[in-house]
Amino acid sequence: MSFQKFELHEKIQTGVRMLGYQKPTPIQLQAIPPIMEGRDLMGLAQTGTGKTAAFVLPILQRFMEKPLGHIRALIIAPTRELSEQTLEAIKELGRKTKLRSTAVYGGVSIHNQINRLHGNVEIISACPGRLLDHIERGTVDLSHVEVLVLDEADHMFDMGFLPDVRRIVKHLPEKRQTLLFSATMPDDVRKLAMDLLRNPVNIQIGHTAPVMTVAHRFYPVQMGTKTALLKDILDKTEMESVLVFTRTKSRAKSLALQLDRSGHKVISLHGNLTQQKRKQALDGFRDGRYEIMVATDIAARGIDVTRISHVINYDMPSTTDAYTHRIGRTGRASKTGDAFTFVTGDDMGLAHSLKRILGEKLQYHNVDGLTSEIHNSSSKKNTVDMKSINRRKSFAPHMQTRRKPKQRSFGNANRSSWSQRSQSAA
Ligand code: ADP
Ligand code: MG
Repeated sequence: MSFQKFELHEKIQTGVRMLGYQKPTPIQLQAIPPIMEGRDLMGLAQTGTGKTAAFVLPILQRFMEKPLGHIRALIIAPTRELSEQTLEAIKELGRKTKLRSTAVYGGVSIHNQINRLHGNVEIISACPGRLLDHIERGTVDLSHVEVLVLDEADHMFDMGFLPDVRRIVKHLPEKRQTLLFSATMPDDVRKLAMDLLRNPVNIQIGHTAPVMTVAHRFYPVQMGTKTALLKDILDKTEMESVLVFTRTKSRAKSLALQLDRSGHKVISLHGNLTQQKRKQALDGFRDGRYEIMVATDIAARGIDVTRISHVINYDMPSTTDAYTHRIGRTGRASKTGDAFTFVTGDDMGLAHSLKRILGEKLQYHNVDGLTSEIHNSSSKKNTVDMKSINRRKSFAPHMQTRRKPKQRSFGNANRSSWSQRSQSAA
């Protein structure tokens, strides 16, 4: 099955070819035809499986032939980095088209954005806060929007974003196409999401669970030993690019400093940085200048850095879905990756939930002198089963990870065999 089946405009097909995409991914196969028919849609598919192009391609197609000059598609995402990345995808896929697009997010000059919005763009990729700023100033006109996309949709319905999203939607025409995409969709949020859709097509590819191309490892550890354990892992494991998640901004900053002092090429990404610094961090991590990025959850959703071989949860994420998104930064586009998570006594509740979801794919791992038996203060039952840890230890000896991201065989990956991007495009 090739992209030709969609009968996209020749100029769009050129964009697809230039990115090296050979076959549509499963979500693209299933979502693109109904979107092209104008249907509303909820598209759930695992991390790194090409959801962006699933909505960008039909949007480009829809506007190819019609008169230009108004904002006709609005894509909303939770972080500046993701808005910018989506804009890049629009520009790359649409490079042969005359369609104009821009990003709208905070932390950068609003006047430059106002100028660009004046210049007649058809597609905007926005974060809610800054978009509302423009709405209040009257510097954006959303009255011609035909397509609304909420990327990371479940997150956009979280309490932190929902009021903003509601206010934005009030400024959109009632008659429009609405598309929601994510890798996860908790039941309580699904109801809210369905309210926004009209007679939608529901697509779910695989389970809304951590992607199958990632190997999962838990390290039982005391809080005070985490940094030593991390350094030990970084020293002994062959890694291409490593994304380390911490719970707080200050810990992201201080941990990056400590790793820097130990001679690592490391940068941090968190909300206390200026937007310029955030951009420098992500750009430097993308192009390999930094091997390690220590980040808060602002890097947990959507970010596509193909070379990430390892995600390390220095601090446990807050929910199983948050785990899915964080570790979804590796193992993308059919590549493989490793996810290491440091588990303290306080984390045992979530650790057990993840164990139930991941089963044998999740292995506990010990490092002599650094990991430890951990107890949950509330319950003896939650003590990590050290017998099983030790049994596994002999099976998975000390730090044997010698795996770079590579193509996992399709049968094993339980995903259809959509092709890896061509070398020239990588
Ligand atoms: P998701 O939003 O599902 O997490 P993305 O849209 O960020 O995933 O895509 C993940 C990666 O896969 C990106 O690098 C993207 O360029 C690539 N990709 C998307 N579609 C295809 C395809 N049909 N063939 C090969 N690579 C693709
Ligand atoms: Mg995405």
